[in-house]
Amino acid sequence: MNTLPSQVWRTNIGSAPSQLLNYIDGNFVTSASSFANINPVNGKLISDVFEADAKQVNEAVVAAQNALKGPWGKLSVQDRAALIHKIADGIQARFEEFVAAEVADTGRPVHQARTLDIPRAIANFRTFADLAKTSHTDLFEMSTSDGSGALNYTVRKPLGVIGVISPWNLPLLLFTWKVAPALACGNTVVAKPSEESPSSATLLAEVMHDAGVPPGVFNLIHGFGKDSAGEFLTQHPGISALTFTGESKTGSTIMKAVADGVKEVSFELGGKNAAVVFADADLDAAIEGVLRSSFTNSGQVCLCSERVYVHRSIFDEFVSGLKVEAERLVVGYPDQDGVNMGPLISHGHRDKVLSYYRLAVDEGATVVTGGGVPKFNDERDQGAYVQPTIWTGLSDKARCVTEEIFGPVCHISPFDDEDEVINRVNDSNYGLACAIWTTNLSRAHRVSRQIHVGLVWVNTWYLRDLRTPFGGVKLSGLGREGGRFSMDFYSDIANICIKI
Ligand code: NAD
Repeated sequence: MNTLPSQVWRTNIGSAPSQLLNYIDGNFVTSASSFANINPVNGKLISDVFEADAKQVNEAVVAAQNALKGPWGKLSVQDRAALIHKIADGIQARFEEFVAAEVADTGRPVHQARTLDIPRAIANFRTFADLAKTSHTDLFEMSTSDGSGALNYTVRKPLGVIGVISPWNLPLLLFTWKVAPALACGNTVVAKPSEESPSSATLLAEVMHDAGVPPGVFNLIHGFGKDSAGEFLTQHPGISALTFTGESKTGSTIMKAVADGVKEVSFELGGKNAAVVFADADLDAAIEGVLRSSFTNSGQVCLCSERVYVHRSIFDEFVSGLKVEAERLVVGYPDQDGVNMGPLISHGHRDKVLSYYRLAVDEGATVVTGGGVPKFNDERDQGAYVQPTIWTGLSDKARCVTEEIFGPVCHISPFDDEDEVINRVNDSNYGLACAIWTTNLSRAHRVSRQIHVGLVWVNTWYLRDLRTPFGGVKLSGLGREGGRFSMDFYSDIANICIKI
């Protein structure tokens, strides 16, 4: 199964270049400055990435504006969908290169990249290509005083140039979650992946180029946020909308940047998600589920559960069961047999997570397991690993229980009744997702609709149908994407009223 040559993910991304270029108006271009892309498994250099400057970001936006007026703007929706399927075919054809790129940048298990990240990127293109072909609009008939009546119908038109800014935690999956529907709706795109995970997006630019996507339709700019490509893009008057996934405070900064131009925004932001385990839950399934929801991708999924509430009658049994399973997790090399967890994305992020590990102790937590850094006695000691960690004993007001940590960690707290736990779950500045574990059908329905979040799972976690709405409330985001919600966001919707 794990056939990647070790060199591929330990030092570079194989056949891909060791320099990553920007892709502007159909050309791969360098720039005056570059930054290092570091492998979090061992701290070694993967590639140098050329940072787009303000002039290049402007060129990308102008190219995207011009491309709207070219052959791309004249394609029928069927031909556009066919081209988008060709992009999906291109990713499929270079599947293992994408896996290697994602693993190199993030250190995630190869198995995860093969079963989640890359297949989902392909599904994003196919799903939105098909939705564009099959979507319908509204028609309203109305009566008029002269008796002849009128018809109103809505049309979806491309919005224009879409700015896409994405994070590092699920690099290609989240990048394509926005690029695919934007293209499917006929827009052009200027997209910036995270500076921590630039490789798979660069491969995608090659795939777009080879698939025959016209110049200027998809532009890739590399760089950071402040005083760099991210900020240059959000401040550019030529974009029509900005779609962003990342931290809540970055979302707030971007909102201010686009305010003067009154640009449309779609924000998928941070979370401090809860899992709730009722006394009537299937305990084994709940333990297995919370293990996944707390530790998948080293806890670096916006949907991960960092707050776990367990009914007092099963609290001790649950905590000891989860501790056993967490201690069985294999933390190691991405291609190691049976590996469950890789490193965090970077040393900088590890410093942040470890600062919470220390803070939890200061705040009075009982460390059930973990709380430190694993020792390997090999090159991985130069990597960005931390131990999967479980705490109990903190108050609901503790910073470790209220702030997003974004690491492999959860705090488990007992509760006594349903109303109490609903109030405690909702007492958060965030509102992205919640997982509920119960075998009582009425309770599942009753509680689900009282949780103030965008996504509730019952007896499962991170099961996604791409046609359903995705997004959060409060600090967790603004707007919904997925299915027709994406079709609406990435379109200019106009009403046409015809008097008969
Ligand atoms: P981040 O906000 O630091 O960076 C995200 C992107 O924004 C990067 O490409 C970065 O370069 C860019 N950026 C940073 N500052 C900017 C600025 N001033 N102007 C323009 N662009 C700027 O987030 P991150 O650390 O990459 O990702 C982790 C965060 O993302 C977590 O908070 C996580 O919960 C959140 N997230 C949310 C979802 C969701 O769907 N709600 C999904 C994944 C991740």
